[in-house]
Amino acid sequence: MTDDYPYNGRISRWEEVAPGLAIVAVQALEEPFEFQPGQYATLGLMGPEKLIQRPMSISSSADDLSEYEFFIRRVETGGLTPLLWQRSVGDPINIKGPKGKFLLQDDGRTCLFVASGTGLAPFMSMIETLRSRNQSRDIVLLHGVSHEHDLAWRAELSELANGDGFPLRYVGTISRPQHSPGWAGATGRVEAIVSDQLDAHGLDAGNTTIYLCGNPDMVSAVEEIATVRGFAPEQVRKELYWPKGRQH
Ligand SMILES: Cc1cc2nc3c(=O)[nH]c(=O)nc-3n(C[C@H](O)[C@H](O)[C@H](O)COP(=O)(O)OP(=O)(O)OC[C@H]3O[C@@H](n4cnc5c(N)ncnc54)[C@H](O)[C@@H]3O)c2cc1C
Repeated sequence: MTDDYPYNGRISRWEEVAPGLAIVAVQALEEPFEFQPGQYATLGLMGPEKLIQRPMSISSSADDLSEYEFFIRRVETGGLTPLLWQRSVGDPINIKGPKGKFLLQDDGRTCLFVASGTGLAPFMSMIETLRSRNQSRDIVLLHGVSHEHDLAWRAELSELANGDGFPLRYVGTISRPQHSPGWAGATGRVEAIVSDQLDAHGLDAGNTTIYLCGNPDMVSAVEEIATVRGFAPEQVRKELYWPKGRQH
């Protein structure tokens, strides 16, 4: 890797989940870095003038460094993701890590994971890492997206939730049900179902830590609900994917 050739990884897998939404894996071509589930890496591609780099949560298990997996939405007006969508498996990419403090707390409490869109990524890493270590935590996972086809890992998460090997409760919710005629599950934005889900699962400030990841408006809406219900700030962990107030 030099200034002229800033690449130290290659794209090793690409699964298009829906148009403009993909699970992308990157293999380190140098010594892979270790990470903790919930952390992110920085992915970079050369733009017209310089390397364009963006943070991306790692979605794969921290116990498998053969490739780092990511769950990425293309932002038409963005810097990195339109470039990424011009690449394919085998192409070079820059990867740096690990970074971030969005970590599973060792507090013995139930985990309420609330994800909007690609904010599911760190929770997948947490679940996969627990499973690979034969550990478990009582987890309620709420995933909010626009359309049914955006619910990545839905089959895997439903299977896990329906089995008895891992204590997961999983609810996917879609905010535009008019485009998914066969959908019989929860509807509305994920923040709109949080209060009912807290009540349905008996989750409160005494027994639960809330983890929020993705859209900053979702994060602040759920923070408000948590505050009203008496959750202390340290019981509400947050990862914001972009600054509040910025539109694309
Ligand atoms: C800690 C951290 C972890 C992140 N992890 C992920 C991840 O796992 N997957 C991912 O897709 N993005 C993730 N992001 C966002 C990511 O860094 C980029 O902003 C995003 O991929 C768009 O890059 P861009 O250069 O194309 O557009 P940018 O110029 O970075 O973004 C332009 C605008 O697009 C919007 N936007 C950014 N990200 C998203 C998104 N994911 N979905 C919808 N709108 C968005 C925002 O309004 C933002 O201001 C993360 C951000 C942070 C801070």
